[in-house]
Amino acid sequence: MLSVEEALDAILSRVVVMPTERVELMASLGRVLAEPVVSHREIPPWANSSMDGYAVRAADTAAGVSLALVGRVEAGVLPARTVGAGEAMRIFTGAPMPAGADAVIPQEDIDTDGERAISLRGRVAPAAYVRPAGEDIRRGDAVLGAGTVIAAAEIGLLATLGYTQVPVYRRPRVAILSTGNELADLGTEPKPGQIPNTNTYSLMAQVLECGAIPMSLGVAPDAAGAIEARVRQARDADVLVSSAGVSVGDLDFVKAALESAGAELHLWRVSMRPGKPITFGSLHGRPVFGLPGNPVSAMVTYELFVRPALLAMMGRRAVQRPRLRARAGAPISNPGSRRGYLRVTLARDGGDFVATLTGDQGSGILRSMVAADGLAVVQPDTVIQAGEQVDVIVVRSLEPRSL
Ligand code: AMP
Ligand code: MG
Repeated sequence: MLSVEEALDAILSRVVVMPTERVELMASLGRVLAEPVVSHREIPPWANSSMDGYAVRAADTAAGVSLALVGRVEAGVLPARTVGAGEAMRIFTGAPMPAGADAVIPQEDIDTDGERAISLRGRVAPAAYVRPAGEDIRRGDAVLGAGTVIAAAEIGLLATLGYTQVPVYRRPRVAILSTGNELADLGTEPKPGQIPNTNTYSLMAQVLECGAIPMSLGVAPDAAGAIEARVRQARDADVLVSSAGVSVGDLDFVKAALESAGAELHLWRVSMRPGKPITFGSLHGRPVFGLPGNPVSAMVTYELFVRPALLAMMGRRAVQRPRLRARAGAPISNPGSRRGYLRVTLARDGGDFVATLTGDQGSGILRSMVAADGLAVVQPDTVIQAGEQVDVIVVRSLEPRSL
């Protein structure tokens, strides 16, 4: 039996990064930059005032000195003249510093001396309230590396540098196939003996959540030919993810169907609970995953194996969810010989996180997944007692429920 780490290594060693494309700036949010960004601009382009006040020569300043007012400069225009000895120029926040001046006195720190002069209360230091040219970005600075995940601050930086379009890695199209004679798809009322199709939708949502593009292949019955036909329809997908029918039962046709469609597959038993065997391989160079059918098993195996693969394809370097150490709020037990990935809530208690099982850990209990903030990783045949530490993979934003 493989460990989760061995299975993930085998997957990640076989996925390749998607080709790149250029997208509109705002469409690059959440995507991964495919090329480094080197600034061709100086930001700010010229020294400017950080206050409304008066541009002066610091050497001229002292208590009681009066300076002649020789003009005015606002943001958006260049100063019409320079500031000479004994002179000051009215200036506003963001306006370029006039040549000759090297400091700004905020307007609240002077006394006006008629319309034509200001009277100083003290000395000012050179460079006071002046933002130097290139203070933020220098021409030639490598400001963003390839592989950067584009968030709001990166969008602002790219806009500052004039990027109307941004080179990013393509988002993989991920075809999702549910298999099972018992499945009634959304929009049809399950007949006696049928159950509603859950996995197509939870998996498509998981694909969307990590930034890839889901495509539904619907539901195929438990028949190798029918499954193979659906798989062949997914020609323009970059990745195929199926659920159910992947163990070694009489009605488990996914592996055979994928193979007759041309896939080269490995069927693995991975030491994890929930999760039965999973299959992984390549179909004409594209990754294919056969996940188990129980709704929680499908979601958890997606988390551990498919999500990192999709993130790697999209150019991400960090493909693992964050983990934290939490204190068990009540005993967490993982009987049996497989490592447990158990659904827990996370609550804050002072500086600590407290992890508590969300309830019945059966692989069909989707409501315990709904309640979960994380997956507690528990070694085989282990009971973590209340108060002991446990590693938790954080699977959702902790803001709404814990902060
Ligand atoms: P299997 O892997 O085919 O043995 O399926 C395991 C369990 O998951 C069975 O109880 C199936 O009915 C259930 N199951 C399989 N596919 C789905 C699905 N798309 N939605 C909800 N339950 C499913
Ligand atoms: Mg089945």
